[in-house]
Amino acid sequence: MNVVEPAPGVCAFIRPDEGANATLLRTERSVVVVDTTSSAADMRGLLSAVGVSPADVGLAINTHEHSDHTWGNQLFDCPILAHRLCREAMAANLKDAWRLDRIRASIAERGQTDPRWAEEMRHKIAGLEITLPSEVFDQERDIDVGGLHIHVEHVGGHSPGSSVVWLPEQRVLLSGDLLFVGRYPFIGDADIPALISALRRIRAFEAQAIVPGHGPTSGDEAIQVMLDYIQGTWERTIDHIAQGHTADGAAADEGYPRYAEAAAERYHENNIRIVYAQLMGGDACPL
Ligand SMILES: [Zn+2]
Ligand SMILES: [Zn+2]
Repeated sequence: MNVVEPAPGVCAFIRPDEGANATLLRTERSVVVVDTTSSAADMRGLLSAVGVSPADVGLAINTHEHSDHTWGNQLFDCPILAHRLCREAMAANLKDAWRLDRIRASIAERGQTDPRWAEEMRHKIAGLEITLPSEVFDQERDIDVGGLHIHVEHVGGHSPGSSVVWLPEQRVLLSGDLLFVGRYPFIGDADIPALISALRRIRAFEAQAIVPGHGPTSGDEAIQVMLDYIQGTWERTIDHIAQGHTADGAAADEGYPRYAEAAAERYHENNIRIVYAQLMGGDACPL
């Protein structure tokens, strides 16, 4: 993990190996946390690395509903803010895929081929109490915490409940998973046209620094890189479908845009299949 400070008082935890990034904002009154990682233990570790106790946190914000950004919520007694659809998606998951018995069953299943991962996950979910956001907003919300102006805005795209956090005075954008830097984006829960609109929207902030959901902090040129990748993949897949090609045929095309140098063939092909399935109106293929 790297701790970086893209602006004074803005402390970003960049976690290339551990999971999603999280950000801590220091204000004159209390600390604000944006995204809470995938467990209370992970979240506690981040706070203690910078000398902050959970009791110092006056507000937590979830950029969206995915577990790697919300399962650390239980660490906090303070208000937890998210978009209404983020909370609704989490509540729906709690009755379905996030039921503890189902989580255990899916860990056991994947554990047959990946025992080390399963062991890690069992450790991670020990004591897990998935905690929903306590406060919701529609569209956008402007908050002042101890002199720090925070603008939270719903943009959708990556998932129905996706929002970004904008710090207008610092010109820093906390994009959540709307933006991935240096690694293939996860789009299994995305609405691709909405994602393209959302990326165009966040480009308009003209941020001096962005903390993405995954990957290192970057300038706002990273938005254009992701836009080119998503738009290029979408348009090329439309062409394949128009020519009557199957998903396998599209996935074999070497001419698709690439997103990262890393050995990530699986993600590259999987994203083509997700886009293909979405264009055909079917379910996206799971990772
Ligand atoms: Zn994520
Ligand atoms: Zn996500």
